[in-house]
Amino acid sequence: MLDATLTRNADLALTDEQQDFVRSIRDFSAREFGGDRLREITRDYEDLHSDEIARRMAELGWLGLTIDEEYGGSGGGFFDAALFLEEIARGQAPVGAYAVTLICVGALNRFGTEDQKRDLLGRVAAGGALAIAMSEADAGSDVAALKTSARREDGEWVVNGSKMWCSYAHKASHVLVVCRTGEGSSRHEGLSMIFVPREADGFSMTPIQTLGGTETNELYLEDCRVPADALLGVEGSGWTQLMAGLNNERVILGAQALGLAQRAFDEALAYAKERAQFGRSIGSFQAIQHKFADLATGLTQARLLVRSVARLTDEDPDRMLPQEASMVKLATTELAKKCALEGMQIMGGYGYASEYPMERHLRSAVVTTIFGGTSEIQRNIIAKTLGL
Ligand SMILES: Cc1cc2nc3c(=O)[nH]c(=O)nc-3n(C[C@H](O)[C@H](O)[C@H](O)COP(=O)(O)OP(=O)(O)OC[C@H]3O[C@@H](n4cnc5c(N)ncnc54)[C@H](O)[C@@H]3O)c2cc1C
Repeated sequence: MLDATLTRNADLALTDEQQDFVRSIRDFSAREFGGDRLREITRDYEDLHSDEIARRMAELGWLGLTIDEEYGGSGGGFFDAALFLEEIARGQAPVGAYAVTLICVGALNRFGTEDQKRDLLGRVAAGGALAIAMSEADAGSDVAALKTSARREDGEWVVNGSKMWCSYAHKASHVLVVCRTGEGSSRHEGLSMIFVPREADGFSMTPIQTLGGTETNELYLEDCRVPADALLGVEGSGWTQLMAGLNNERVILGAQALGLAQRAFDEALAYAKERAQFGRSIGSFQAIQHKFADLATGLTQARLLVRSVARLTDEDPDRMLPQEASMVKLATTELAKKCALEGMQIMGGYGYASEYPMERHLRSAVVTTIFGGTSEIQRNIIAKTLGL
């Protein structure tokens, strides 16, 4: 059984081995970056990805969970990765680049050549990071409007264009760039994905200042030359490859948001039990109790949803689950925002103060309903699956 104060009903469905796994991540988090350590490691929450912590996690086999053993991973499933992501987000692990890296790993597992897998999956299993660049200044929700192009020349790809919002590109050895390599009868044709090494000539980036919680960049590709074998999968199949990865991406971002929601909840609950006003703990007021009852219900719903969709993905990685994956993304990210906002209300002025982490949780939560497809886009997809 998990620590009594941390027991959650959805955890009871985990095997003993999975519970041990969760417990070991929890212990690692408390030991390595619990308390004031996190502030030191992240230089006051400025640097949300520590290469050192990533390397330590890699040594434990955690960063290669979805990577086959022959490429240096531990050959686990997507369910294990969802458990891991939830738990590291809950523990505030300074390995911000891991979620986007995992999205790239999914693409490599499905479409990578043997050489690409050996090189890139091996790096990830050892603690390295990858990034993905789809969005552009004029291509956000409408990704197919992207203009970045690549042409073949002298046995190489020459990439030109610019990308917005590429998270953790500054930590990645390679960025998976979605670009136009040809024309087709629709905007969804003629797209391809190319791995651009961070050190490639003609490739540069500048950081984008944000409200916080994610480190993201604008990328510039100016006659950037990469070898022909940097192409992922079949030329012109970029859109199909992107769609195939969406189940994974939405569950990955969902598990992460769930962990953040749980963290905000845990801190607010501990506070409500300690803080006294009018001679009694604020947690004894029914108005506060009902907030926790609603949030706890949302957390259990979200956890059951994330885990069942992760299980379905493991059963058949080729099965498309657009409705369920969008529900995961929508439910978990909106919940993360709600937990942090309610957490702030429950903590009163102290929730708003920078000295306490709740305001940081709120800033981290706000972006989760924007990146990886906004809540409006997830609702559009769900509505479409209902025949609307
Ligand atoms: C911190 C951060 C990190 C990111 N990381 C990455 C990354 O690593 N890689 C990457 O490729 N991208 C990344 N993104 C980009 C992200 O995926 C986009 O911001 C997102 O898809 C929305 O695009 P947009 O910002 O251009 O908003 P827009 O698409 O311009 O949308 C603006 C508003 O209009 C709404 N809207 C748009 N179309 C519709 C519609 N059809 N129906 C209803 N409402 C609609 C949106 O929901 C939103 O509310 C990141 C973004 C942020 C902020």
